[in-house]
Amino acid sequence: NAAPLGHNVIPIVNKLQDIFAQIGTSSPIELPQVAVVGSQSSGKSSVLEALVGRDFLPRGSDICTRRPLVLQLLQIKRKPDGTEEEYGEFLHVPGKKFYDFNEIRREIQAETDREAGGNKGVSDKQIRLKIFSPNVLDITLVDLPGITKVPVGDQPSDIEARIRTMIMSYIKLPSCLILAVTPANSDLANSDALQIAGNADPDGDRTIGVITKLDIMDRGTDARHLLLGKVIPLRLGFVGVVNRSQEDIMLNRSIKDALAAEEKFFRSRPVYNEVADRCGVPQLAKKLNQILVQHIKRVLPGLKSRISASLVSLAKEHASYGEITESKAGMGALLLNILSKYSEAFCSMIEGKNEEMSTA
Ligand code: GDP
Ligand code: MG
Repeated sequence: NAAPLGHNVIPIVNKLQDIFAQIGTSSPIELPQVAVVGSQSSGKSSVLEALVGRDFLPRGSDICTRRPLVLQLLQIKRKPDGTEEEYGEFLHVPGKKFYDFNEIRREIQAETDREAGGNKGVSDKQIRLKIFSPNVLDITLVDLPGITKVPVGDQPSDIEARIRTMIMSYIKLPSCLILAVTPANSDLANSDALQIAGNADPDGDRTIGVITKLDIMDRGTDARHLLLGKVIPLRLGFVGVVNRSQEDIMLNRSIKDALAAEEKFFRSRPVYNEVADRCGVPQLAKKLNQILVQHIKRVLPGLKSRISASLVSLAKEHASYGEITESKAGMGALLLNILSKYSEAFCSMIEGKNEEMSTA
């Protein structure tokens, strides 16, 4: 049961990683980071969680995400007996493996309070969490506090400006994909998400629009025109989703049930039939996966030339050892040859001619 995010990208990346492992280099491809932006309670954490396919983020009608959460997904091998193990590790709790994802959520909450206080304070100090699983792609996702206008609790009077600066510091990076989250029951033309994403990515090359809460729109309205880009156009387009409501969260409804409920929601509403490719978390994951594959295609030529270069230098090194020989005397000569090259390299390093030892 691979997570929605990455299911068709994982095999490609794994293959490439195998190739590079053979020539002794690791992690050849750096995938872009994905960050969620939007106003408070628009459903950002819900969207990220649905993409990962596990329950572990604090969500709720109040301000929950109060520090940036940098979530690094890391693929690990299945155990030899075929069973899989998934766990999390926090940078601030070294050496501890969290196998219980509810405990991960509690630790995010506790660590948020430690830095930002218990009274709605916000901090730009990151929480760094790694999730190890056989079912994920090596990618970094960033959950960010939402844009809020009116200070509450311990928030300073300039809270809006501070949060905007914090968000911009992540999404201005040209390698960051932006999920701009707007609830369907608010005015898209006034979307904080699209506004801030537009500042960071004016050409719209790396912004995907996500419309949440399609289930609680005004009766008699639907999001078709939003999804078609008729209200605000976006180069990479929009995807509409239905995440769990506050009631679902209180009833501990599972992510699997939520995905099934979402599927049923769209299936039972004919208005969404003709925009089915823009509806649902699986479609959002598909869109993201396509963008990741595009990215991999772009970096492939560079990877290819790296492989060729290392082939050439390996061939040279190989040739420098002389003829391969079976006889004892021949092998002795070869060994001597290698040793003398090694000691030459060693001498020149000691004399400071060369910082690196090389036998080539
Ligand atoms: P964030 O502040 O943007 O991270 O938003 P959260 O993911 O914490 O969600 C805020 C609230 O909105 C929670 O109570 C969620 O249950 C609720 N919510 C999020 N998405 C949806 C949705 O698609 N439909 C409904 N009905 N509620 C949602
Ligand atoms: Mg959140």
